[in-house]
Amino acid sequence: MEEKTILLVTQNQHKVEEISAMLSRLATESTSAFRILSLKALSKVPLILEKGETFRENSFSKNASLLSWFFSQGIEELWKVFPLGRGYLLSDDSGLEVDALGGAPGIYSARYAALESGQQSNSTDSSNNAKLLRDLEEVPPCKRNARFCCVLALTEVEVNADMEDLLERTEFFEGVCEGKIDMEPHGKNGFGYDPLFIPEGYQVSFAELGEDVKNHISHRSRALRSFVQFFAQLTKN
Ligand code: IMP
Repeated sequence: MEEKTILLVTQNQHKVEEISAMLSRLATESTSAFRILSLKALSKVPLILEKGETFRENSFSKNASLLSWFFSQGIEELWKVFPLGRGYLLSDDSGLEVDALGGAPGIYSARYAALESGQQSNSTDSSNNAKLLRDLEEVPPCKRNARFCCVLALTEVEVNADMEDLLERTEFFEGVCEGKIDMEPHGKNGFGYDPLFIPEGYQVSFAELGEDVKNHISHRSRALRSFVQFFAQLTKN
């Protein structure tokens, strides 16, 4: 069976670790074999832009942004990553939607605290969590429903094709994990809003549940599962 190369389009090391761990597990459950690379495999650090208004548009724009970087660097960079002349880009756009905040922080989850001061850069996890708790100060436990959402964009790359053709070969996979926001942070595992998020059916946060449970029920694992099913089908034909 030919091993498929997947380049993960994210600068977030936590996402790289989660996706790599889940793909290795899912690959053994299906008939697919993956070689997973992160952006660290590239000779320079590319600028990945998020230009959309939705998770889906943002995940697409991450792949588009990396492809235009590849084309600006010269085709050799693509050959280095995909020595067989083909492979896949996989990006993740994700975030937290809180009902009491009208769906915020949503696509702005990574820079929620920074937005308050008009900055465009990402905020630290602790400042995002502190802002979320401030915004929900008056909201009682029964009204703190929230969900994590994830959209994965998979673009099939053939090194000799042109950019427009490549972008047309993009498929999307979505996953949602319902839950609620705790009154204070708990737990040390994971990243982002994990210490505040209690998934449905549990009494403790993602950060307390730890990697194995999180990777089984999370928004990202749900999206990855449908991606792996699609992939197994694709490689069978
Ligand atoms: P993105 O890199 O633009 O997709 O931003 C995603 C942001 O959403 C992260 O920086 C986190 O703040 C939040 N987020 C997404 N997935 C998770 C998760 O699994 N746990 C905790 N926070 C998450």
